[in-house]
Amino acid sequence: MAEKLPPPVLSAAPLAPGLYVVATPIGNLRDITLRALDVLAGADLVLAEDTRVSAKLLAAYGISAKLERYDEHAAERARPRILAALAEGRRIALVSDAGTPLISDPGFRLVREAAAQGAAVIPIPGASASLAALSVAGLPTDRFLFAGFPPPKSAGRRRFFQELAPIHASLVFYEGVSRLGASLADMAVVFGPREAVVARELTKLYETLSRGRLDALAADPTLAAPKGEVVIIVAPGEAVAASAQDADAALAEALSRVGPAEAASEVAAALGLNRRDLYRRALALKGVR
Ligand code: SAM
Repeated sequence: MAEKLPPPVLSAAPLAPGLYVVATPIGNLRDITLRALDVLAGADLVLAEDTRVSAKLLAAYGISAKLERYDEHAAERARPRILAALAEGRRIALVSDAGTPLISDPGFRLVREAAAQGAAVIPIPGASASLAALSVAGLPTDRFLFAGFPPPKSAGRRRFFQELAPIHASLVFYEGVSRLGASLADMAVVFGPREAVVARELTKLYETLSRGRLDALAADPTLAAPKGEVVIIVAPGEAVAASAQDADAALAEALSRVGPAEAASEVAAALGLNRRDLYRRALALKGVR
């Protein structure tokens, strides 16, 4: 049976017209703000990525609202009508299945076009898996880069990681659990033995944080194909100059798997060295003139 929570104290103040981008829980239903409940109860229309998921949340708080699906597929068709309703002064809320809309979730074009036509666009902040994971990772947070979902196939994923490797910031990834093991393995190859954290099932019953170097996490059998949802955070690379020996060792390892050009790109990204120099060295190591 769906969880039933005590009725919240809703604000009696009327809701101003506009598009409300409302964060919802990422697991624990109590992680919703009173303001989010005010908006969901007062909106003329709640746009939901999956109306069944949002209906459960609303039911738990005894809120009845007009729900309409707004996902990748429905968006193109529905947007002109939604924008027209906003222009008429309606109060419209946008929610996703979990966390903050637009953060690897639908809504970007709607927010952009609503703002362009002069509608008020109002954030109702709350949970996001990325920030929840960062807040407990114990990795540097003064600079971080949200990288979203890595590509599904290994070659594209490694190229994606190579582009991110030189950036001096903690890197935040979303990943499906079925690909977690493969992604960690590719991260270990491209980023080297950086510290990382896998945050699983945040705010839920089986919340788990796995901390360690990427090579150790990639070899951890409990992370090969766990259940639930995960965020991966990778610490910034060390800004120390790699020695020629380090470069040769990394090149030799990469050349055992890939050709000289790709080996040079990988090592350049991982060690912050010049790709052309590494390519010449890779050819020399392979005995090519
Ligand atoms: N908009 C959401 C947010 O603000 O966090 C993210 C939506 S994205 C489609 C879903 C991904 O977020 C999952 O694949 C997982 O990487 C991450 N995620 C969502 N809930 C999570 C949780 N409770 N614990 C860990 N990761 C979670």
